[in-house]
Amino acid sequence: MPKSAWLSEELHAYIVAHGTEPDAVQQSLIEETAKLGGISMMQIAPEQGTFMTLLVRALGAKRVLEVGTFTGYSALCIARALPDDGELLCCDVSDEWTSIGKPYWEKAGVAHKIDLKIAPAVETLAALPEDESWDMAFIDADKPNYPNYFEAILPRLKPNGVILVDNVLWSGNVAKPDADDDNTKAIRAFNKKVADDPRVEAAIIPLGDGITLLRKK
Ligand code: CA
Repeated sequence: MPKSAWLSEELHAYIVAHGTEPDAVQQSLIEETAKLGGISMMQIAPEQGTFMTLLVRALGAKRVLEVGTFTGYSALCIARALPDDGELLCCDVSDEWTSIGKPYWEKAGVAHKIDLKIAPAVETLAALPEDESWDMAFIDADKPNYPNYFEAILPRLKPNGVILVDNVLWSGNVAKPDADDDNTKAIRAFNKKVADDPRVEAAIIPLGDGITLLRKK
């Protein structure tokens, strides 16, 4: 099933088939995660993973932050694009879910680039110096905390650094006047906040469940 509620299954399959497809290790992590059942929908879409791998390489990113790792698929997509001395700091609160991904990071030969911190991400981020030393960040965790993650990351990001934010269209609910659940309201507020923020440029890409690209000015 496509994560993009606005795409037909046929068009989604076409998009996946005409981008670089997941390799064998990535495919096996997708299958392992699918065994978890409904919760597996928290994994990013394969076409988003392809996009992230490409973007990390194109930007030449060396130091990347991730907020919300789940079973490690997005981390795998980022880490494989980092140089051998690159660094991905993953923030997650679940040892159970992230443990599923670790053997796949090993198999892909990228585990040495990944530093996983099991703690609330706001605490992990607050402990980092505000030294504008990170190239890129990916935010995909609890939606009401998106503004807090954004504010914690921005002073630590290099000028011209990029933040990717997932689920910003929330199955299209952000634009449905009658949708008023807490997550929809939180994402709408976040989207408005970054669109109005003079410190960043923002572009929403309708890939997966919607991903915002933010560039720090
Ligand atoms: Ca997500």
